[in-house]
Amino acid sequence: MEPLVDRYGRVATDLRVSLTDRCNLRCSYCMPAEGLDWLPGEEQLSDEEVVRLIAVGIERLGVREVRFTGGEPLVRRGLIDIVRRTRALDPEVELSITTNGIGLARTAGALAEAGLDRVNVSLDTVRADTFLEITRRDRFDDVVAGLAAAEAAGLGPVKVNAVLLRGVNDDQAPELLRWCVDRGYQLRFIEQMPLDAQHGWSREGMVTADEIFAHLAEEFVLTPAAEPRGSAPAELFLVDGGPATVGVIASVTRPFCGDCDRVRLTADGQVRNCLFAREESDLRKAMRAGASDDDLARRWLVAMAGKAAGHGIDDPTFLQPDRPMSAIGG
Ligand code: SAM
Repeated sequence: MEPLVDRYGRVATDLRVSLTDRCNLRCSYCMPAEGLDWLPGEEQLSDEEVVRLIAVGIERLGVREVRFTGGEPLVRRGLIDIVRRTRALDPEVELSITTNGIGLARTAGALAEAGLDRVNVSLDTVRADTFLEITRRDRFDDVVAGLAAAEAAGLGPVKVNAVLLRGVNDDQAPELLRWCVDRGYQLRFIEQMPLDAQHGWSREGMVTADEIFAHLAEEFVLTPAAEPRGSAPAELFLVDGGPATVGVIASVTRPFCGDCDRVRLTADGQVRNCLFAREESDLRKAMRAGASDDDLARRWLVAMAGKAAGHGIDDPTFLQPDRPMSAIGG
């Protein structure tokens, strides 16, 4: 076993696996209304190939957490089987999924039975009209049903991820938090990052962590949670003294790159050592050319060693990566 260590001494143990770049929503801050040019089928890893690379990560490189994402992972046909086979690799590894929740009402039970531990559901508003405005799809009720099914299936603690957009839902932070607290869901706000396909992000336009705190302070008293943050991206706060918490993931205004323990595998088999990396390492090509597991592990180690110290969003020389969030895996 050789850990995925970079030249700054950070060790990656948390693997984000994108299972598809496709999505059934069209969130305005993520992709255009007409969608994107999806990966051709032959470029996408097969179920077999995905599980093989996850096995290399777990068995040779010290991966201890696997999170399935996308695009929308629930639209991947082989998802439940991929979860089952990943669980069979190691009973201890933490398995989770980041999803928009559409279809979760139908699949939560099977996912739990296959060995999934937890879900993160993305939900930016609890108003059906704002949901339609942001996602361009009228599916709010499906997400609510998906959340309830996840809780009932034991996929908890259920976390909700929300992005605030100026002039759209930034005045809704307190009501979203109240809704989540009432249902026992752990809400985390994520600062909007420059990862949209349309390159519409701007530093002035994004809603900052400070603004999020100010909105929440209108209705709640937040105090820093005692538990150490470690490599977790969210800063956690007790809501009105607890036990409910709320998290803020301030990737832009309070970057936490120094504690990063993440590595990403795209749906077409590219290792990315950072969301914002401008280079990738092509494990699919190597695998299809007959590389051994040892060889794949070596390539992966080399890819990690080159991880940059930080994402540099606030640096004037920052360049947005070529792939949008939906094609990397959030
Ligand atoms: N479809 C799944 C979902 O909705 O959770 C997984 C993929 S989605 C890209 C993962 C997360 O990234 C979602 O919570 C979404 O809101 C967030 N996201 C997408 N674009 C973003 C951006 N530009 N900045 C911050 N978060 C973003």
